[in-house]
Amino acid sequence: MIIAFICIVLIFNTMETISIHRPKIVVIGSCNTDMVVKANRLPVPGETILGGTFYMNPGGKGANQAIAAARLGAEVTFISKIGYDLFGLQALEIYRSEKINTEYIFTDQKSPSGVALISVDSFGENSIIVAPGASRSLSIEDINKAEEKIKEADIILMQLEIPIDTVEYAATIACKYGKKVILNPAPASSLSNSFLMNVHTILPNRIEAEMLSGIKVMNIESAHRAAQAIGEKGIENVVITLGKDGAYVKEKDEYTMIPAKEVETIDTTGAGDVFCGAFSVCLSEGHSLAKSVKFANAAAAIAVTRIGAQSAIPYKREVVL
Ligand code: ADP
Repeated sequence: MIIAFICIVLIFNTMETISIHRPKIVVIGSCNTDMVVKANRLPVPGETILGGTFYMNPGGKGANQAIAAARLGAEVTFISKIGYDLFGLQALEIYRSEKINTEYIFTDQKSPSGVALISVDSFGENSIIVAPGASRSLSIEDINKAEEKIKEADIILMQLEIPIDTVEYAATIACKYGKKVILNPAPASSLSNSFLMNVHTILPNRIEAEMLSGIKVMNIESAHRAAQAIGEKGIENVVITLGKDGAYVKEKDEYTMIPAKEVETIDTTGAGDVFCGAFSVCLSEGHSLAKSVKFANAAAAIAVTRIGAQSAIPYKREVVL
């Protein structure tokens, strides 16, 4: 009787350990504060316009993707750099409230935290200037300090809002430990083949896919050619996100179009970031690339029905395939 009871307790404990296992994701990237002014129209050079509305939102592709991965179920370490100022401290508070490990968010004593100055007109057209500030000084030495975390992680997720040398170095370290590197090549840049060979899956949107392949992505046929051309640079897996159409997937030698969910779209800001965070969580849980894209489509579809970037990111319990 007592032995049976002990066995039941042991089985229960084991089941609990399995069910509470969360994938470990290290996100390496930027932290910005978006400062947005909405006005009837955008000013021409030299002009001042009165009557705008101002609001401030936390942002940065790195931060958005770290929050997406955390809300969708991963144990996230965010490697980033802030300035010694109020914006940086506010950002840290947000990450802590999202249960993100902030141990490797470094502080640059000389640069301000990154900001994006965004003007939006009544048609939703915008103009944006990003001052990366401290994000620009996230260095190879910083990556070395966080090497243990990279070693423990299931997946490393990066974008291109930090110095490219740092991104390339982090990919080399990740590969040394056999970790999967997921790259969201945003903002669009050209990248060396030697770096791309260290990437497990690349997640460009239409513009970034065009930058990498030289092929304008307008439909499935051109997405196919772009995915093929990007793959020829040495990456096995290419997922081109196509906004409301979903994503075009190249997995080794197989090509598939995975449609988006049909939803009432309110604001697409940060949809790509939710997609990247969600994709990484699902893949790191051991699911297939196709299932991870479906999960990412479902999570991003929820985000576009809500206003804002970080505020629109869904939680795991909300995402239904
Ligand atoms: P980015 O935001 O980086 O420009 P996309 O516009 O390609 O990237 O969007 C990323 C993903 O977000 C898409 O692959 C899709 O899953 C989802 N998405 C974007 N816009 C919509 C939409 N209008 N309806 C449903 N899903 C969308």
